[in-house]
Order: sequence, then C-alpha cells, then structure tokens
Amino acid sequence: MKLRDIPDATFVAIDVDGSFTRVPDAKGAHAIWFQCPCGKHHNLIAFEPTIDTEPTTRGGLSRTGGRWQRTGTTLDDLTLTPSIDVNSTSPGGSCWHGFITNGDVR
Ligand SMILES: [Zn+2]
Repeated sequence: MKLRDIPDATFVAIDVDGSFTRVPDAKGAHAIWFQCPCGKHHNLIAFEPTIDTEPTTRGGLSRTGGRWQRTGTTLDDLTLTPSIDVNSTSPGGSCWHGFITNGDVR
C-alpha cells in the first residue's frame, strides 16, 4: 500500500515534552505518524536526519525507542531503514513488521 493512502499519514514535529504537531509540507519534521497496518492504533516513527530542523531532544526517542534512517522528503518518496517492528516487545508479539520504501508500505 502507499503511505499516502494510509489514514492520517503525515509528517510531524516532536516537541521537547513529547507532544507533536503535523507539518504537512515536511519542513521541521522529526517523525512520521500513520495508522498502523494492523488498524488498531497509530505509529510515531522518529527518523534522522530530521527535515529542515534540529533533532528533537526528547519525545522521539522516548516514544519509539530508536530512530530510523531517512531518505526522501515526501509521503511519496520516503524511505526508512531498518524495518519497523511494532510492539515487538509486547506479550502479544509484533502487530506489524514491515518496511517503508520510496513511499510504499509493506
Ligand atoms: Zn499495530
């Protein structure tokens, strides 16, 4: 599926308190926000390098436990590495494990 077609998919800026705001044109983005392919919740994936802003000092790390390497600056060409394994440490196991590559989510 295309990242652009996933409900609520948007770039976001993360504040030092961990809150975040949408940045539709990606300027100032620290992360991507989108509905998880499992359909039960949303994911906030912090990446680096950030887009036209300094790295956030909190929030991203505390929420995701790590950062992904980014290329691309739009929902149509975004690539994050390595793979994204959501809830991999929960008792129920991972709900989604996949890739965002050139705007494709699989
Ligand atoms: Zn999920």
